[in-house]
Amino acid sequence: MPLHIHTPLIESRPLSLSTGRTVWLKLEALQPSGSFKLRGVGHACEVHHARGARHFVSSSGGNAGLAVAYAGRKLGVPVTVVVPETTPERARELLRLEDATVVVQGSSWQEANQHAQTLLGADDAFIHPFDDPLLWTGHASMIDEVAEAGFKPDAVLLSVGGGGLLCGVIEGLQRNGWHDVPVLAVETDGAASLHGAIAAGHTVELSRIATVATSLGAKRVAEQALKYSQSHPVHSHLVSDREALMACERLLRDHRLLVEPACGAALALLEHPEAMAAWNHVLVIVCGGATATLEQIHAWLEQAR
Ligand SMILES: *Cc1c(COP(=O)(O)O)cnc(C)c1O
Repeated sequence: MPLHIHTPLIESRPLSLSTGRTVWLKLEALQPSGSFKLRGVGHACEVHHARGARHFVSSSGGNAGLAVAYAGRKLGVPVTVVVPETTPERARELLRLEDATVVVQGSSWQEANQHAQTLLGADDAFIHPFDDPLLWTGHASMIDEVAEAGFKPDAVLLSVGGGGLLCGVIEGLQRNGWHDVPVLAVETDGAASLHGAIAAGHTVELSRIATVATSLGAKRVAEQALKYSQSHPVHSHLVSDREALMACERLLRDHRLLVEPACGAALALLEHPEAMAAWNHVLVIVCGGATATLEQIHAWLEQAR
């Protein structure tokens, strides 16, 4: 039994009617850890566990850390998550609810991550949030489920942080023989690390992250994300924070699901007619995210007006 669940695939009647195309939603927000990350992280943790790992270490205070904490609890493996002081109390609380040990160290993710590396003993496994082939193979299972359901989309919309989801979805498309199905890869303006890499022809490091979609805040994408963008049809698109937030509100209204702005970004592209013009049956990966609160989304929307 894998650690993730088989998620529902539904047609969104409201989004289909308003966009004039068929919009299908893969509801990864319903994974027990709150996001798609459990697919890849769960797979990586199971592999490391089978190889004898006795302790999992993560440096993500977001959905990757939550997925590691969940996987560790289910496998009976202790988990330590090192987070910087900037990590909100809510995120720390969610990690503790999964029985993870939370270590607060440093003022930035870089410092927390460096400290996490020093904690690694011989029987420990470090679980990266996006740059690991084990993760991609795990994420790919979401496309297997879509293929099993007998629905072949003519494009897949997803959001991109470090590019782990992108790599996993393309691995899934290719292993189902869907080499012709393009991926519409969406970032917010303030976290455009894939967009920058495609423009430059090599991965680039953003000098800063400036977005409310914190789960998209990887300064540099995985090399494989760029490689796939050059070998599989990938179209890179940007949306504003405000558009991502409005898409969160809309999903809550239409489908009673609260997701992070990181997920709202992918949904927001549906409102860009020029980007969507060529596609009639689209699949949106509703990647989820456990750290959003309605109060926070409303406060951000006030600021973005
Ligand atoms: C991690 C995450 C992303 C981005 O995934 P990457 O693999 O880093 O590209 C998007 N949305 C949510 C909710 C996430 O947790």
